[in-house]
Amino acid sequence: MFTNKEAFKTYFLQKLEMTYGKTFEDSTSSDHFQILGHMIREYVSTNWINTNEAYRRNQGKQVYYLSIEFLLGRLLYHNLINLGIEKVVTEGLNELGINLRDIEEIEHDAGLGNGGLGRLAACFLDSLATLNLPGHGFGIRYKHGLFEQRIVDGYQIELPEQWLKHGQVWEVRKEDLAVDIQFWGNIDMYEKDGKLQFRHLNAETVTAVPHDVPVIGYDTTTVNTLRLWNAEPASLLAKDVNDIMRYKRETEKISEFLYPDDANDEGKILRLKQQYFLVSSSLQSIIKNYKQQYKDIRNFHQHISIHINDTHPVLAIPELMRILLDNEELSWEEAWEITKNTISYTNHTTLSEALEKWPIYLFQPLLPRIYMIIQEINERFCNELWDKHPGDFHKIENMAIIAHGMVKMAHLALVGSYSVNGVAEIHTEILKKREMSDFYQVFPEKFNNKTNGITHRRWLIKANPKLTQLVTDTIGSEWIYQPDQLNKLLLFQQDNGFLQQLASIKQENKIHLAEIIKESNGITVDPTSIFDVQVKRLHAYKRQLLNVLHIMHLYNRLKENPTLDITPRTFIFGAKASPGYYYAKKIIKLINAVADKVNNDKTIQDKIKVVFLENYRVSLAEHIFPAADVSEQISTASKEASGTGNMKFMMNGALTVGTLDGANIEMRDLVGDDNIFIFGMNADEVLDLYQHGGYRSTEYYHHDKRIKEVVDQLKNGFFHDTNNEFDPIFDSLLIENDQYFVLKDFHSYENIHQVVDQTYKNQQKWLQMCTVNIAKSGHFSSDRTIKEYADEIWKIKSNF
Ligand SMILES: *Cc1c(COP(=O)(O)O)cnc(C)c1O
Repeated sequence: MFTNKEAFKTYFLQKLEMTYGKTFEDSTSSDHFQILGHMIREYVSTNWINTNEAYRRNQGKQVYYLSIEFLLGRLLYHNLINLGIEKVVTEGLNELGINLRDIEEIEHDAGLGNGGLGRLAACFLDSLATLNLPGHGFGIRYKHGLFEQRIVDGYQIELPEQWLKHGQVWEVRKEDLAVDIQFWGNIDMYEKDGKLQFRHLNAETVTAVPHDVPVIGYDTTTVNTLRLWNAEPASLLAKDVNDIMRYKRETEKISEFLYPDDANDEGKILRLKQQYFLVSSSLQSIIKNYKQQYKDIRNFHQHISIHINDTHPVLAIPELMRILLDNEELSWEEAWEITKNTISYTNHTTLSEALEKWPIYLFQPLLPRIYMIIQEINERFCNELWDKHPGDFHKIENMAIIAHGMVKMAHLALVGSYSVNGVAEIHTEILKKREMSDFYQVFPEKFNNKTNGITHRRWLIKANPKLTQLVTDTIGSEWIYQPDQLNKLLLFQQDNGFLQQLASIKQENKIHLAEIIKESNGITVDPTSIFDVQVKRLHAYKRQLLNVLHIMHLYNRLKENPTLDITPRTFIFGAKASPGYYYAKKIIKLINAVADKVNNDKTIQDKIKVVFLENYRVSLAEHIFPAADVSEQISTASKEASGTGNMKFMMNGALTVGTLDGANIEMRDLVGDDNIFIFGMNADEVLDLYQHGGYRSTEYYHHDKRIKEVVDQLKNGFFHDTNNEFDPIFDSLLIENDQYFVLKDFHSYENIHQVVDQTYKNQQKWLQMCTVNIAKSGHFSSDRTIKEYADEIWKIKSNF
């Protein structure tokens, strides 16, 4: 059906008639999207079946990637590219008078994620399938995703996402593969053949129904699976009507929202339920599959690897133990050996407030058998520690999995897995030397680094077709299969023809983004100005505040001296704040207040503009990265584990203004100091300052006039009608001593932006720097990352 455009058109029209009973004339873009989606699914179904068949036949090891988030974005165009049929489809549709890019807009992003962690999982799926690796994802099919962000009067408003409203073309519901999950109840112990056995009584059962999404590799026949679980009532045989309603409601909530508010106990229980729901359904499904193929459960870890993306799925460890002990009736020692050799774990943060822990009083009643198993794991672990460090109560207390009334999820992950990886070199070093140094001493062999990556197929080939064409025209197309070969572009640094084309592509992409800005925000921006972009979740450590304070400072300078010679700049922001994160929401309001003030002041002659794009998400990001000149990666050093936005910018030829944090350091190492704008404290300086103290933000406030001026403007009526709106931000800087060193790094940040301004004036130089960045970005393809995971952690082999 996709071999040529005639065949495509015929099939498309036929299917349209058969499905909707409509003529082409009466059909809508939405119909076209649905039809095309179904055609693609039909087209890949044989390969999907064959891939699974081949995996079974080869008896190779398979990996299952468990993640509470999969930030997929849209799939239509990406699938067309991976199948190599986007040209046939584009041309065929054109002849029918349909623009594929319009149909693409119909698709709602699958926003089953929050930020980098979820997007990483999506990039990994793409690389696994493309490299023909037997790797599948397991996640939750949240009905309303995270939330859809609207900006009203400068404030963030959250609406439930409606991505399932018109059905989901990509998923296949598999009711026959549903499994049951048990919550609450009590554990009955009894003896069988002289062995102690456990039985879960009076449990509340929830049914998990899989919805499978095909994961289509690029230019290959491999189609892997992303299995998303939906929570549904098991049976409605309870007697009382009110009971039925309550049960149904409670059950459906499990797969309703990602990260429900966990400020109170009810919210905490719901999150814990979600986590157990994900791992129990996934493990039951994995084991069922395994047993259909292999006889001896004792070889499980030789055929299966289970990866947990951060600690959210860490209950996979006690859940696997439970199944091996209670269902398969293995001994503790046998079960533990298998479990420890099956699970691998990625740590994504060193922020201590982000390390998950659950109060026992909530945990134990909800998951009674799982809690017993964790207790046993903890006891045995503490005994081992005692043998190694007799009498060192303090160390054992610090490392215990259960302590001070809490279950510590990261400790469980460290003890129950065979591999623990950080996501950038510096992050892994901080884990080993500082955050997890006690564990590193006990299990040095477990720790390793896997620097994050992004799929160049979405973030370059799909997002930036013009640059893709230029690259291919310049160095051929092997880079698509071996992204390291992008470094052939280094030969074109002095080639004015190449640089000119690079410049005009950037210009066209900026014009396109300017149109989006005009349409969504009603703001006219100058596409010849520097597009200076910070898009990422809103968090204090990411320091959107440093960026805003610097914009306020620039504005003040322009007010003082309207003829100031600066290159016009457009500052672009995009960020969702967690609904319960009060401070982050204040920063959003501040960005919008600054935008209001700056954009409406005629006296500065449009030299700076500020734009906050609402509802930052994958499909919007695809328009932003190709249009960026400057990439803001300005986290407090040591706080950003890796970052992946930084890599998408680099690959699209934006230059980084960044601290020596996360993967920025590896970017600097690749491009050299001359091709990146580094500023601020480094991680050791930050960590030492935390450890030994000695920072006083008020000194910076009193001694630097520029800082005093902008900080005072948060309070002194500079923004009209905002009353005490920004007091919490003012207080965070001066009363709470500026935990993220915004004021300390301000001077250095201001300086580096003057360097950016000067460098941009030399377009030749700027374009050469862009070229070096694109050329070196191949290292950050997730294909490289996934090869490292496959070879060094999972030990899985390509299917061909
Ligand atoms: C890449 C990406 C992120 C991660 O950005 P960071 O700058 O690494 O925090 C978050 N959200 C979306 C939509 C992304 O595409």
